[in-house]
Amino acid sequence: MKVKKRYRDFTSFIRDRFGIRVQKVSINAGFTCPNKDGTKGRGGCTYCNNTTFNPEYCKPIKSIITQINEGILFFSKKYNSQKYLAYFQAYTNTYAPLKKLKKMYREALAHPDVVGLVIATRPDCINDNVLDFLQNLVEEGYFIKLEFGLESTNNQTLKDINRCQTHEDAIDAFSRAANRGLHLGGHLILGLPGENRDDMLQHARNISKLPIDTLKIHHLQIVKHTKMAYQFKHTPDMFCFMSLDNYIDLVVDFIALLHPNIIIERFFSESPPNKLIYPKYGLKNFEVKALVEKRLEYRNISQGELFNSQ
Ligand code: SF4
Repeated sequence: MKVKKRYRDFTSFIRDRFGIRVQKVSINAGFTCPNKDGTKGRGGCTYCNNTTFNPEYCKPIKSIITQINEGILFFSKKYNSQKYLAYFQAYTNTYAPLKKLKKMYREALAHPDVVGLVIATRPDCINDNVLDFLQNLVEEGYFIKLEFGLESTNNQTLKDINRCQTHEDAIDAFSRAANRGLHLGGHLILGLPGENRDDMLQHARNISKLPIDTLKIHHLQIVKHTKMAYQFKHTPDMFCFMSLDNYIDLVVDFIALLHPNIIIERFFSESPPNKLIYPKYGLKNFEVKALVEKRLEYRNISQGELFNSQ
């Protein structure tokens, strides 16, 4: 008998939405980032090393179709996936003129096994013309997920990590993107410098006020070749890492406060060992997911039971 989950999980959502297994294939389309080139800021977010989340097969020198085909080849050895979502993942994937964006998104959707797009971007980097185009794609029948990097809902933290965006930017982006049939996602980091446990739980309340469909959460990681790696070496006191056990409890408390309709796509992500400095929990996503589910059960907590709409 299938046990009902204590939170809304992304795998079930995808299964219900498509009726078949659908897998994301990452694409590096050669975008840059306005927080690196001086348009928003320079140097980028202090934790950012984009190579950590970019699979080997994704090189912008390769065409989008080639990357999709290589991604499908990679996954078809592991899973018997039937359809795919093209995941524009590296850097800021709406940071280009509309004409160029249209060409890239259309190229991905032209693949016969691609049923939609996942587009990762900054909330301050999405204009209404791009939203109109994405809405057209939804009306053509594609699944379009727009994934905004929130990272924190606290403006002081966003300043400290040189994110060069505010939570008001996020509120604005979500409100302009809402009611267009797009699947709206957000990404959050728990454990950023300066935030205590209460601050992190406050994110659950703030995010619950957004018209958001899906949330990804992970803990702070110090990755090589980042500003944070330098800070961690020279001013380690500015960081306060949790044990894995404490992190699991924090996630459970977070889930209790989160709006019951929000789908949770992930709780955890660990960078490759050769790029990661700290912390090294050494677990896979599915193992942490199992620990969270076990703790929810043990503490008899379900998503949204402490959610307050006021
Ligand atoms: S995390 Fe995203 S927004 Fe920040 S510097 Fe890296 S690519 Fe740019």
